[in-house]
Amino acid sequence: MTVKTHLAEQSYWRSRMKRKAKLRTYRIIKRDLELEPYLEMKDLKSRRTLSLLRSGSNFLRIESGRWTGQDIEERKCSWCDAVEDEAHFTLDCDLFVTPRESCLGSLVVPVFSGRTEKLAWFLGGFARTPRDKGQALAVMSEFFLCSRRIWGKYKDLEQDWLRAEG
Ligand SMILES: [Zn+2]
Repeated sequence: MTVKTHLAEQSYWRSRMKRKAKLRTYRIIKRDLELEPYLEMKDLKSRRTLSLLRSGSNFLRIESGRWTGQDIEERKCSWCDAVEDEAHFTLDCDLFVTPRESCLGSLVVPVFSGRTEKLAWFLGGFARTPRDKGQALAVMSEFFLCSRRIWGKYKDLEQDWLRAEG
C-alpha cells in the first residue's frame, strides 16, 4: 500500500467514523491508521476478514440483523445464542475454539484491563513491538483465515438444515 492510498484511506475512515453507527468496533479500537500491522498480512482473505471486523461492515449478525431491523439482542450467533458481534467472533465463540487455541496459543498476549482493550489488541494492536511482529502477523492471519472459513462452512450447513426443515 502506498503512502498516498494510505492517507486517502485514513481520511475516508475519519469521515465515515463520524456518521456510521456500524463503526462501533472501529471507534473503539481506532486512534490512527498509521502503522497498522494487519495491512502487512500476506494472506488476502485473512486481511480482508480482519478489515471487515474492524470496520463493522461485516458478515456477522450484529450487522446483517441491522439490515433487517432486528433488535440488537435478537442478533444472535446461531451456534451459541450470544449476540454475534465482533467481540463474540474474535474472543468468545466456541465455534472457533480450535483456531483460537492452535493459532493464538503460541502468542504472548498482554494482560488487559477489559474486553474493549482485549478486542482492540486482537483486531490490530497485536504487533506493536518489532520483535513480536512477524510472529504475531503470521498467527493472527492464520486465526482469522481459519475462523472465517469455519464460519462460512457453518452458515452453509445451517442453510442446508433450514432447507431440509422447510
Ligand atoms: Zn457463537
